[in-house]
Amino acid sequence: MPEHVGMPSLARLTLAPRALRRGAMPEPFSCGLYACAAYRGCAHACAYCDGRAEKYFVEGDFSNDVVARSNLPELLDAELGRLSDRGAVSLGSGVSDSYQRAEAELGITGACARVLAARGWPAVLITKSDLVLKDADAWAAVASASACQVSVTVTTLDESVRAAFEPGAVPSERRLEAIGRLKEGGCSVGVLAMPLLPYIGDSDDAFRAILRRAKAAGASFVMPGGLTLRPGRQKEHFFSVLAERDPGLVEPYRRLYAEERASGIGTYAYRAERSAAWDRILLEEGMPGLLPHAIHRRLLSPPDSLFILFCHMAELYQRRGIDARALRAATGRYAAWLAGLRARARRSKPRSGGGEAEAPGLFDAMAESSPVSDGPCRGLCESPVALLARAGLDSGDLERVIDNPKLFEFARRVLADGEVFDYSSLKLT
Ligand code: SF4
Repeated sequence: MPEHVGMPSLARLTLAPRALRRGAMPEPFSCGLYACAAYRGCAHACAYCDGRAEKYFVEGDFSNDVVARSNLPELLDAELGRLSDRGAVSLGSGVSDSYQRAEAELGITGACARVLAARGWPAVLITKSDLVLKDADAWAAVASASACQVSVTVTTLDESVRAAFEPGAVPSERRLEAIGRLKEGGCSVGVLAMPLLPYIGDSDDAFRAILRRAKAAGASFVMPGGLTLRPGRQKEHFFSVLAERDPGLVEPYRRLYAEERASGIGTYAYRAERSAAWDRILLEEGMPGLLPHAIHRRLLSPPDSLFILFCHMAELYQRRGIDARALRAATGRYAAWLAGLRARARRSKPRSGGGEAEAPGLFDAMAESSPVSDGPCRGLCESPVALLARAGLDSGDLERVIDNPKLFEFARRVLADGEVFDYSSLKLT
C-alpha cells in the first residue's frame, strides 16, 4: 500500500508502488501504450469531469483532496530501463491533469518528462493548462530524442462558460497560446474539443470557431466530442452546476440523459446529429478529427501503429457512412494475433537479473540487427522490412490473420513501403 509521506499545500504526497500501467494494445484515443499519472483528483474542478464517477474510486472531495505520487520519476526511470516493448507513455489519466496547480509546486510531471527525454522514450500528454510551458524545454528534449505529442483541451471560447464549467482551469486562450511554443520545440500538438456542452457550446458556429482558432495556433488535429454523464456522483454534480448557471437548461438536459446509461452517453438522435455536423465542419476546414497516422507512427512501433490505424479507419469509415464491419473484424483478429505473438515472445525469452527485468519484447531482437537501431528510439525506427520478417509477414501469417487481400495489401504498403494514410482524403500518400 502507498505510504503517506507529507502534506504540501496543494496535494497530499504518497509513494506509488509502480509507475506504469499498460494494456495488451495501445489505446486508440491517446495512442499511448503505457499510462502514468502523477496525480489523482484534479483542482481544475471541471463540472463535467467523469473522474467523479463511482467507477474510478476517487474518494474524498475530487477537486480538493488531490493526491500526488512523489516517487513517480524514480519509478518511471527504473521501469523504463526494464521495458523492451517500445511505445508512447501517456502522462495523465481520466481522473487528473498532469499540469494542475500542484505541479507548479511539486514538479513531478516535469521530472517525468526529463526521465523520458533521457531514456529517449516517446510520450503523449493531455492538459488544460499552459503550466505545461514551464517544462517546454523538457518536452522539446523528448521530441528531439524520440517523439512527443501534446493535446490541449479547449471546450469553449466563451470565458463565462469556461469559468462556470472549468472553474479551476486557465482561460482557453492561454491554452491555445501554448500550442506555438510547444510546436517550436518540435512537439506535435492537437486540440481536444471535448466535451462540447449540449445547447451551450456544441453549435456549428461554436465548434467552427474553436477549430479555426486551433488551426491558426498551429494544431495538427481537432478532435470533437460530446458530453457523457454517468449516473451517480458525476451526473449529480454536473446538474447542480447547471441549475445554478442555466436553470432553463436543466429539463432539456434531463431529457437528453434520461436513458441513464452506464457509459453516460446521451440520446442517439442527439449524438448522431451533432457528430455528423462536427464531421462535416472538419471536412470543410480540412482538419483531421483524430490523431493522424503521420503522428502516431512516430509514437508507436509499426505493428502497434497499424492497429491504431485500423481502429481509426473503422471510425472514419463509419462516420462517412461506409460499412466498416469487415475492417472491425479484421482489426480484432489482428489485435489478438499481435497479443499472442507478444505473449509467446515473453514466454520464450529467459529472464535476466534475478527475475527483475521484463522479458525482451516482440521486436527487440530485430531492433538489435536493424541498421537504424542504434539511437535511443531503438525499436521504433527499425527497418519495417525486418519487422515484417520478425512478425511473420513473410510467411504469410499476417495475410492469413487479416484474411482480406485488399486490407493486407494496404497493411503491406504501410509497413513495408512506409506509406502514410491521410485521414481527410482517406488515401495512402
Ligand atoms: S482537467 Fe480533466 S481530470 Fe481535471 S477536472 Fe477537468 S476533466 Fe477532470
